[in-house]
Amino acid sequence: MAPEMDWHLARALLEWQVEMGVDECIAESPVDRFDLPVEAPRARRQQPEAPVVRQEIDAAEMARQAAQGAESLDALREAMAAYEHCELKRGARNLVFSDGNPAARVMILGEAPGRDEDREGRPFVGRAGQLLDRMLEAIGLSRSAEEPEEAVYITNVLPWRPPQNRDPKPEEIAMMLPFVQRHVALVQPKVLVLMGNIACQAALNKRGILKLRGGWSQAFGLPVLPMTHPAYLLRQPQAKREAWSDLLSLKAKLETL
Ligand code: URA
Repeated sequence: MAPEMDWHLARALLEWQVEMGVDECIAESPVDRFDLPVEAPRARRQQPEAPVVRQEIDAAEMARQAAQGAESLDALREAMAAYEHCELKRGARNLVFSDGNPAARVMILGEAPGRDEDREGRPFVGRAGQLLDRMLEAIGLSRSAEEPEEAVYITNVLPWRPPQNRDPKPEEIAMMLPFVQRHVALVQPKVLVLMGNIACQAALNKRGILKLRGGWSQAFGLPVLPMTHPAYLLRQPQAKREAWSDLLSLKAKLETL
C-alpha cells in the first residue's frame, strides 16, 4: 500500500473497481498458461458441505456487556480497546479515550477524533481543541487543573476517527453509547457539556444544536448543557457570542453546586 493509503481508502478503491466491472486480477507480468502444469481434475465430493450458519451479532449488546464489566476508567479503556465490532477501529491509528482530570466537576462530551487527535491519541488537540481550551480558560476552567473546581474531563462519543472526518453514523453512535454511559457513570461529574449535534444525539436522542444550545436538560441522571461545537465556531465566528453566553451559564451553574 502507498504510505498515505489507509484501510478505508484501499477498500473504497477496491469497491470502485468492482463497480466499474473489474472481475479479474491481472498480475504485472504475463502468465503463459500453456506452460503451466496440468492440474489433476478434482475428486467429486461425496457429501454436500454443511451450510455455514452466520450468527447476527448485536454490537450494542456486546458493548453494553463489555462496558458494564469495567469497574474503573483503566478497565473501561481496556474494554474499549478490546472491542472489535466497530469498523472505525480498523482505519484508526489510536484509540482516543479521554483527557483532563477525572475528579473534575465538568465533563465534556465531544463528537469523534479528527486527524490530530487520531495521531496523538488525545481528544481535542487540533484547532478546535485549542479554541475549546481558550473558551474554558475564560471561565476559569482547564483540563490540566488539579483542583476539581477548576478542572474539566474530556471525552468523545466515538473513540476512533471516522474516515475523512465524516459524520458518525447513527449505528456507530448507538453501538458506542454503552461505553459513553459507563464513562459518565465512572467519572461522576456534576454537569455534562454536550459539544455539538453528535453529543446531543448520543445523550438526548435529539439533534438541532442551534435550537438546543444554552438550554439545560437532563441526561444520564445529570444536568447537561448543549453547546455549539468549537469546530463550528471556527467556521462561524459570529456564533461565539451565543457560545460566550452558554459559558457564563455553565459558570453560574457551577457556582450553585
Ligand atoms: N472534535 C471532537 O468532537 N472531538 C475531538 O476530539 C476533536 C475534534
